Amino acid sequence: MKIARLIVTLECSQSCEMCCNKGTVFQQAKTIASIDELTGFDMVLITGGEPLLDAPRTLQIIQDVREKLPDAIVYLYTAWFSPLIGKIEEAVAGIQYTVHGDGGTYNFHRTQSRLVAEHRSHRLCIDRDVSGVFIQPGTWLQVKLLSWIPDCPLPPNETLFILKDGSKEVQ
Ligand code: SF4
Repeated sequence: MKIARLIVTLECSQSCEMCCNKGTVFQQAKTIASIDELTGFDMVLITGGEPLLDAPRTLQIIQDVREKLPDAIVYLYTAWFSPLIGKIEEAVAGIQYTVHGDGGTYNFHRTQSRLVAEHRSHRLCIDRDVSGVFIQPGTWLQVKLLSWIPDCPLPPNETLFILKDGSKEVQ
């Protein structure tokens, strides 16, 4: 399976110590100006930064990806909340939510309460240091504790892209 990992923004309001955006993974990234440059992928992982900081734009990107690659499975990676989460949930195969730090639980619970989950494969990662996470039964297909991998190496079947518009310059 060929997978595109698509960074739609590098902006994020959290500052996780082991964030992949601080690693060397960007040396392997291809910057693209448009979704039209994504061809031949079976799966697209929409990620950041934090895609939900500009949820309307992210929803539009998801819709553009689905139009361009109608057979591809699309997932959203997030650690945030948006009132648009319900619409985004309908547009993707699943959401991978990560709870970072105790400050992340508020947004997590807001997001979880909006998810319907029917026919979706949502996955939840929880930072080992986080407490006070209530897991709603039936929402998550998979729940695991987060293990940070230094420098976030890309799996061999994944290609990393940065969508140019809306991204800050990579350091
Ligand atoms: S939430 Fe994600 S993108 Fe933001 S700082 Fe943490 S690991 Fe990095």
